[in-house]
Amino acid sequence: MKKANLIMLGAPGSGKGTRAVAICEVLGIVQVATGDLFRHNLKNNTELGKLAKSYMDKGELVPDDVTAAMVKDRLMQADTEKGFVLDGFPRTLKQAEMLDDMFKEMNREITAVVYLDVADEEIVKRISGRMVCEKCQAPYHKEYTPPKTEGVCDKCGGTLYTRDDDKPETVQKRLNVYRTTTLPLVDFYEKKNLIVKIPPELSSAGAVADMRELCKEIGLI
Ligand code: ADP
Ligand code: ZN
Repeated sequence: MKKANLIMLGAPGSGKGTRAVAICEVLGIVQVATGDLFRHNLKNNTELGKLAKSYMDKGELVPDDVTAAMVKDRLMQADTEKGFVLDGFPRTLKQAEMLDDMFKEMNREITAVVYLDVADEEIVKRISGRMVCEKCQAPYHKEYTPPKTEGVCDKCGGTLYTRDDDKPETVQKRLNVYRTTTLPLVDFYEKKNLIVKIPPELSSAGAVADMRELCKEIGLI
């Protein structure tokens, strides 16, 4: 099996989290989701958590150096050696450059950047139905990917909740930040020939089947 060091790129609510989890299941690698790492810190009341909250609540990005340091720390852990899916990082050109430096240092290479292109109206619809498992962070959607039992995680039985920053005002702000700050990364990675564009809708077969197909297409299995 080829090593998979993957990056997910897409707007908030584009479904990149769902795809990231599915890819990890298919390839047996780990998901590194910056939003989850921040929320984990927040829950444990760490300094990093408190700092991140002040930005997240406003729908703004946490500063690049803070975010990159957290990601580097995570990527130094042994479970990422077999491969990983970066979900939510990089989100700025500066972060992409910092990631290049990190990878050089760690002797790693980006295998592919999986890009989901979703229209804005669709995003608002998706985010407004979104729920996350409190325990394992598995994502659900009231309409598109509902849990078998309402309010309960299929995978671990944890309670599902709606994130504070999924309120409509904050969603609009996050979309603006995405458009101005993150979207230029598509160009950045296109120049490096790393972009793999995928349809934002799930097939009836579901995320895991779709991502297995994708992994075959890009030669990972
Ligand atoms: P979504 O992709 O739905 O916006 P995330 O869980 O990835 O949600 O991120 C939630 C919040 O965490 C972001 O709005 C931002 O404040 C912060 N965050 C996540 N990743 C980054 C990053 N790479 N750089 C800066 N801030 C980030
Ligand atoms: Zn769960």
